[in-house]
Amino acid sequence: MKSAPQHLRTLSFTIGLGERLDWDAPVDSGSVPKDGSSFDAIVVGGGPGGSAAASFLAMNGAKVLLLEKAIYPRDKTCGDAVGGKSLKHVEELGIKGILEETPHFRVDGIVFGAPNGKEVRIALPEEEVEQREAGYSLPRRQFDTILFRNANDRVLEAGGAVIQGFSVKHVHIENDCVTGVSGTHDKKEFHFTAPLTIGAGGYTCPVAKAVTGHHDEPMVDKDHYCGAYREYWTGVEGCEDWKGAIEIHFIDGVIPGYFWIFPVGNGVVNVGVGMVLTEMDKQKTKLRALQEWVINEDPKFSKRFANAKMVEKSGKGFQLPFGSPRKKVPSFQPRRSAMAGAICVGDAASLVDPFTGEGIGNALLSAKLAVDLVYEKYSEGFTSEGAEEYQHKLWGELSAELTNSYKLQRLVKRKWLMNFFIGKAVKKEELQRALTDMIASKEAQGQFHSKWWMVKTLLF
Ligand SMILES: Cc1cc2nc3c(=O)[nH]c(=O)nc-3n(C[C@H](O)[C@H](O)[C@H](O)COP(=O)(O)OP(=O)(O)OC[C@H]3O[C@@H](n4cnc5c(N)ncnc54)[C@H](O)[C@@H]3O)c2cc1C
Repeated sequence: MKSAPQHLRTLSFTIGLGERLDWDAPVDSGSVPKDGSSFDAIVVGGGPGGSAAASFLAMNGAKVLLLEKAIYPRDKTCGDAVGGKSLKHVEELGIKGILEETPHFRVDGIVFGAPNGKEVRIALPEEEVEQREAGYSLPRRQFDTILFRNANDRVLEAGGAVIQGFSVKHVHIENDCVTGVSGTHDKKEFHFTAPLTIGAGGYTCPVAKAVTGHHDEPMVDKDHYCGAYREYWTGVEGCEDWKGAIEIHFIDGVIPGYFWIFPVGNGVVNVGVGMVLTEMDKQKTKLRALQEWVINEDPKFSKRFANAKMVEKSGKGFQLPFGSPRKKVPSFQPRRSAMAGAICVGDAASLVDPFTGEGIGNALLSAKLAVDLVYEKYSEGFTSEGAEEYQHKLWGELSAELTNSYKLQRLVKRKWLMNFFIGKAVKKEELQRALTDMIASKEAQGQFHSKWWMVKTLLF
């Protein structure tokens, strides 16, 4: 098993709490079930969506099989920001206290940078952070391991099984209904069956491929998929503490994408850049080179990175499937994510926020929604009617915020508008307050699309 870069591993020990709670220890999943075994539910993927789904199912008494390709603890390419929405579900899973005992960076504000270099820092006063749960940032290796360990223990306790190092290769469909999966573990082939399969394998999830394929609908829409590249750095000026702001910069040369600097504590910083795939194709952008250019050539950032060092081998690219509404949607928004016998959650259902790039919250929320629906109405079998109901519930819950975020994503494409907007925000408290609301509450984003509110706030 690969170990974490030293800087990330020491995070669990430097403040002494890690010794009490060694989140970085391997997760013991016990014995591998026999080929051909049957379960109440199979969960493909043990990221936040899969770990939450498996936990919620086990909490309902189901005999679950949780299959994860990697071996925990494992890294996941991410910005590492865990917002208030995620924390709410982490609490439901009973592990918020455990998470808080491990080292984490407390986010008390957000810095937005305009293409002309101006910056506005939207502060979240301490009592607001407490009240609204603005969030944390911490390495996904740490966050995901805590979630996975919880799922592992709950699933085993309820009589199910967990296999790490298991790659699902095929999803079995009989009479238009998913009946199970097969794949490999330790070079051996296994086939498992269940009346319900939850697809939580991220943006390349085999269950999502089977579901979209079954409905003859495209899985990838490049207008709504984002490429992103991340590195860990130490010694970045202004990122030394355990509490502070995360930073989002709209830089000339990076727009319509953005450059982020998210401290994760202990002087370690998650630094990355992201852009929608169609824009990357148009501009022939290579994200690693773009990030190198920002760090070395941009006058503001080259200064802040002058004495910084990249954590070795921490540079990784990945994709984000956005939940933005499609213009020509073949059936359901944002795309098909369920069929008889199968439900997709998280990135497998394409639910990442198209403005902020946050996807953990929606992965947890969709897992909860899926399991609740199954237990409310479909415990005797997940039918195609159930699949339609899931789509309606999911979009009913998320359409307002995802549509608002999509509009914001399109607004920030305009350089002059960002300069103007951030220039105003530096001076206007009302705008700063609205931005605070937007960070803490997705619903408040709606205000940004009231034309009258915009005109009034920006001009007067
Ligand atoms: C660069 C970048 C920055 C981001 N920044 C943020 C951020 O700051 N905050 C935020 O909230 N979100 C962020 N996101 C989005 C976030 O990472 C995802 O939305 C989130 O991880 C989705 O969780 P998930 O469980 O659905 O999928 P994943 O986290 O991708 O988990 C999927 C799991 O399935 C496993 N798997 C895959 N295929 C198989 C298979 N065939 N068989 C078995 N197992 C399989 C994988 O190993 C993995 O463990 C970012 C994403 C990227 C790429």
